[in-house]
Amino acid sequence: MSHAELRGDYHVHSTFSDDAVSTLAENVEAAAAAGLSTVRLVDHVRQSTAWVPEYLAAVRALRLPDGLTVLTGVEAKILDTSGALDIPALPDGIDRILIADHQFPGLEGPLGPSTVRERMAAGWAKEDVLDQFVDALMATMRRYPGNQLAHCFSILPKIGLSESDLGAERTQAWARAVAETDTLVEVNEKWGCPEVGALLAVRNAGGQIVASTDSHNADEVGRYARVVSLLDALGASS
Ligand SMILES: [Zn+2]
Ligand SMILES: [Zn+2]
Repeated sequence: MSHAELRGDYHVHSTFSDDAVSTLAENVEAAAAAGLSTVRLVDHVRQSTAWVPEYLAAVRALRLPDGLTVLTGVEAKILDTSGALDIPALPDGIDRILIADHQFPGLEGPLGPSTVRERMAAGWAKEDVLDQFVDALMATMRRYPGNQLAHCFSILPKIGLSESDLGAERTQAWARAVAETDTLVEVNEKWGCPEVGALLAVRNAGGQIVASTDSHNADEVGRYARVVSLLDALGASS
């Protein structure tokens, strides 16, 4: 493995998520079989989620293969521009929250991609949309420091924009907030994001990058293709 990041998978779903098929134990076994040194077990939560203590007990009960560090997490969407997250009260033992742009953070709550596209068609200026989005990401990192950005910028193509629309100023401000708040940025296999420009900005700002598959099936744990290309390109431009 040419990149140290590829020995970790920082975003692996289990059956605690509605849409995933493998157990925690199957994921841990797959991580060891893939030769990983670190795996983060993470599942989707909402404010109403009640199973987090049960999940933590199940992680504690796992038989851990030698040489594998197992980390915990919950994945939650950003709700609004104040940086609120859709999370329940979290017991001790959750190592990091995965902060996800599943919806667009609106002033008073999350907006679906089609709503954002309609509002843009009706005159919401692209630059204002991008400012609001990046400001919300930074507000969330400051409100919840020491966490991890899940597939950051994955919402942009859904609203008809791309990471290249962000521009250097927004990208650098975002990367500085990443570094200042000890936020991990995952390069995500499923979504192929963030792209090289944003990753380079994180590296230049002193922030930390990790790799993730966002797997929903143990067969996918630690198996990278797009992440390798992104890290290769980052290495070539550093
Ligand atoms: Zn997600
Ligand atoms: Zn996920």
